[in-house]
Amino acid sequence: MTAYEIILKKKNGSELSYDEIKWLVDGYVAGEIPDYQMSAFLMAVCFNSLSGRETSDLTMIMAESGDMFRLSLDGFSADKHSTGGVGDKTSFITAPLAAACGVYVPKMSGRGLGHTGGTIDKLESVPGLRTSLDYDEFTGVVKKAGFCIAGQTGSLCPADKKIYALRSCTAAVDSIPLICSSIMSKKLAAGADGIVLDVKVGGGAFMKNTEDAVRLAEAMVSAGKKAGKKCSAVLTGMDKPLGMSVGNSLEVIEAIETLKGRGPEDLAEVSVTLAAEMLELAGKGSPEKCRSLAEEALNSGAALKKLEKMIELQNGDPHVIYDYSLFPKALYSCEVYSPEDGVITGISCEKTGLISLSLGAGRKTKDAALDYSAGIVFDRTTGDTVRKGERLAVLYSSSMCDFSGILSEFTDVFQFGCEEMMKNQKNIIKFIKGY
Ligand code: URA
Repeated sequence: MTAYEIILKKKNGSELSYDEIKWLVDGYVAGEIPDYQMSAFLMAVCFNSLSGRETSDLTMIMAESGDMFRLSLDGFSADKHSTGGVGDKTSFITAPLAAACGVYVPKMSGRGLGHTGGTIDKLESVPGLRTSLDYDEFTGVVKKAGFCIAGQTGSLCPADKKIYALRSCTAAVDSIPLICSSIMSKKLAAGADGIVLDVKVGGGAFMKNTEDAVRLAEAMVSAGKKAGKKCSAVLTGMDKPLGMSVGNSLEVIEAIETLKGRGPEDLAEVSVTLAAEMLELAGKGSPEKCRSLAEEALNSGAALKKLEKMIELQNGDPHVIYDYSLFPKALYSCEVYSPEDGVITGISCEKTGLISLSLGAGRKTKDAALDYSAGIVFDRTTGDTVRKGERLAVLYSSSMCDFSGILSEFTDVFQFGCEEMMKNQKNIIKFIKGY
């Protein structure tokens, strides 16, 4: 077997055997296959795709390239993954909701490169909170709080680490089988019994239309099922940032507000829906029963208590739940006003993300420091009627005091029009059940 033969086969659209895929991936992880051959293979996959069987094989081979965790818990455990979107802080709500209903949530997450930090970066905006836990600490927090969100250990899925780095600099990210194997390999290695996938659809997501999102969701659910996991996916809208806040500590505060019953409706709806899916995977009852259990965990404050406990167990200051002044505070802020009368028909995810990055909320390079206080809090959202001069948003930063450049970019964030121009933006688009 040679890398040349495998690349040629995929370039010609032929199906690869399990052994061929394994030989290539293992050889690449071991440093025996050079980046240029793996890049050529990945590009051939971008053009010719992989069959369902090849995708599941690649996923399992990548999962087995590092540690495969076996969680020793006395009940069902469910993990959750989002394909990524601007303002997505559902994990901080969904995980404690599921935990409050008796489902363990062991969640290993990543850092972010780009618009805002990743889940781990956002969590680290809580003063003192540790996300680098060893395996025993991680399972200890899961057992005591019902859930834990921590960083991936170095030995989780080394194949994905290497392949993703290559894909991101060779324009090979937007391939459904490659996204599927990248996401699902990490989830399978992390060891939960069930996996709920939040597949974002819309202008601010990898998947711009429902058809592609369904294909990705079905590929992921199928790879999970073949590996013996209970799996389901929910397609959720990403035509505007989720919720009203974008930025690390700002998003954690919004998640806490949502757990107090005061969050934005879209964020609450997506978070409760995902939690209800986790409960369904755990066999807690019908879809209606699971939804009402999740709603009850929100309304009773039980999920908020779970979040407080998790923060405390990970050395964070649990008082942040009741006193937001304990979060890093931005040195500078700037208000944005509406340039015209009209209905807000759109908020660009991409531009919101780029502005958040400029404010300091994201990383421009892998090792750049984050400004946890930076970001945007919107006052108004899509569908709202506004008057010229009305405040639309507040920008925060500790690294930027002159906002004039950003303000001129902000004119492109909002689209204005009339009611008839509103796109039918749904929070929950479709369910793909695989159990
Ligand atoms: N997230 C991942 O982890 N991998 C991808 O390929 C895309 C999104």
